[in-house]
Amino acid sequence: MLREDTQNPVIGWCRQALRFVLPVECLTCGNSLSTDPVPFFCRSCWHTIRRLQQPTCASCDQPFVSSAATANSPNHRCWHCQERPPSFERAWTLFPYLPPLREAICSFKYQRKYALARPLARLMISALPSGIEVDTIIPVPLHPTRLRSREFNQSLLLADQLSRHLAKPVSATQLVRSSATVPQTTLTRQERLRNLRNAFEVRRPQDLKEKRILLVDDVFTTGTTLNECAKSLRNAGSGPVFALTLARTVDSDLVPDRLLAEQATQSLPAIGI
Ligand SMILES: [Zn+2]
Ligand SMILES: [Zn+2]
Repeated sequence: MLREDTQNPVIGWCRQALRFVLPVECLTCGNSLSTDPVPFFCRSCWHTIRRLQQPTCASCDQPFVSSAATANSPNHRCWHCQERPPSFERAWTLFPYLPPLREAICSFKYQRKYALARPLARLMISALPSGIEVDTIIPVPLHPTRLRSREFNQSLLLADQLSRHLAKPVSATQLVRSSATVPQTTLTRQERLRNLRNAFEVRRPQDLKEKRILLVDDVFTTGTTLNECAKSLRNAGSGPVFALTLARTVDSDLVPDRLLAEQATQSLPAIGI
């Protein structure tokens, strides 16, 4: 819909008039915004967002440092997935969680900049892998306590736009977070696992019997949350579970991811908006 926004003169005039009264600066570079199509970001910064580079794990999409990893084995899995096969069939992680996307997701999620929901969803849709065949889309749920304090579930807003694009129903009530957990961001992989064990429940499992599910979330860090969701769904009798996240954290201490991120910013074509 970004393209529609830029082509609709009324929306463009209103936005320019509003920015004349209330000047807004790009959250990444600080330059004043004018006719830039994405709220809070200038066109130049937004154009630096690049698709996560191949080759990646055939199961969780973890980037590999070398194309040799998949040269003779296109379905090669990372050691995490080999050691502990995930409950999801396949996870797609579309963009590195780096500026300006990181600022956009944080502003959307924590500062209630709802106007970013649509551009972020469009970004997700612009990079969708081909051949997604699912019956139901389910956003990763928040615990009611966190939902009350945040007032919205960012994954549901993304899933809702995706549902319109794929023409598949979205369900925000069948998978619930039944126990309040501490935020995952400060925890190690093992702590995340303990923190989330049995945190999710499936309501009306008969409705999901053998259904192919697409889980949607904003950020993939270790995949623990998605894996626990997928495990609950499979235990409740669902069909295969797939996962889609807009961004994936890249660890700057790890050479492979850092190299991939640098390669991505230097060589890949810009994502059209
Ligand atoms: Zn900028
Ligand atoms: Zn993997």
